[in-house]
Amino acid sequence: MNNKRKYESVKPVRDDFLIFGSPLILKDEIDEVVSTLLSCWIGTGPKVTRFEEEFRDYIGSKYALAVNSCTAGLHLALLSNGIKAGDEVITTPMTFCATANAIIHSGGVPIFADIQKDTMNIDPVEIEKKITKKTKAILPVHFAGRPCEMKAILEIAKKNNLKVISDCAHAVETEYHGKKVGQIGDMSVYSFYVTKNLTTGEGGMITCNNKIQAKEIKILALHGISSDAWKRYSDEGYKHYLVRAPGFKYNMTDIQASIGLHQLKRIDKNWERRKQIWDKYNDAFKGLPVNIPNPFEKDTRHALHLYTLILDIDNLKTNRDGIIDALYKENIGTGVHFIAIHLHPYYKEKYKFRRGDFPVSEFISDRTISLPFSAKLTDKDAEDVIAAVKKVINYYS
Ligand SMILES: *Cc1c(COP(=O)(O)O)cnc(C)c1O
Repeated sequence: MNNKRKYESVKPVRDDFLIFGSPLILKDEIDEVVSTLLSCWIGTGPKVTRFEEEFRDYIGSKYALAVNSCTAGLHLALLSNGIKAGDEVITTPMTFCATANAIIHSGGVPIFADIQKDTMNIDPVEIEKKITKKTKAILPVHFAGRPCEMKAILEIAKKNNLKVISDCAHAVETEYHGKKVGQIGDMSVYSFYVTKNLTTGEGGMITCNNKIQAKEIKILALHGISSDAWKRYSDEGYKHYLVRAPGFKYNMTDIQASIGLHQLKRIDKNWERRKQIWDKYNDAFKGLPVNIPNPFEKDTRHALHLYTLILDIDNLKTNRDGIIDALYKENIGTGVHFIAIHLHPYYKEKYKFRRGDFPVSEFISDRTISLPFSAKLTDKDAEDVIAAVKKVINYYS
């Protein structure tokens, strides 16, 4: 490795900077937001209810409850499934910090189980090794939109009397053995953050099939007050509200739902567009010292949220960050999904993790790079990404 060899680009592959993860927002969303603003009902209201119904129908779950982020949704899902102080929840180190933080917010302890190298998803064999008397739940993350091995995970859960809560932040469109993953397990939680496949700016959704839990979540998401509390100032007449629990302020607004309604309408169309880019990237990168994503597993649908390359850094004259910096100089923005959770200072110090604890996650963590992959990309954008990756990799080969 020779990190001192500083990359300079005399003529970048493009003149303007291509932002990683920029959303595709069209006139339908804009018009809907304007009409919501003009209606003056800009808080939680009828559009949130409509968005919940349409999302529920898309997923095929019995219930869908809108919240203001996936992080908030994970917190509520854990509480609703009985996670309390000292309970252990098994999850993957190859995720965004919010997954682990939500476990900590619920009072639980995140217990990590290493991933499979080819899918980058939590390894059921590793989950079983981590089960103790304190284990209460498994929290799989469908990394990049690729479904986890839910059959094996559900079997482990059943055998050990554990809840299964899915982090579906990447997985709106993900299907496993003919079902949307949001139908599987006890609860699933989605993210509508800016970079996600469906965005509302900030936002999230919980899906489940249990009526009592659905009602409880609705109450907890809005201060713990009775379920249709948002109607208390409506033209149906003033109603008192009664507090049932010390709840949270996790509700979604109609402004957010206005964006979501139209994002959801185009969800599969956007998926088709990303599939074209996925195939284009796969073709272009064969033969370079990089690993392209593994083929899709049988009887599944990948949500195509992230396109990640695993760099062969042992055969490159720089490390992953050197490649990111060079692509930046070519005016291509990239992302890293993810630095393994246990390598971040907080978790490392708090839970006494060391390098070597989760070798497969560390391998990916050191080598992964996410390329621009939004449905907003033009063919020219995708070609610029390809040209820049080839130029930079060849330079460092
Ligand atoms: C984005 C993300 C989250 C957090 O979503 P927010 O809506 O921003 O709270 C959680 N888990 C994963 C895997 C994510 O990528």
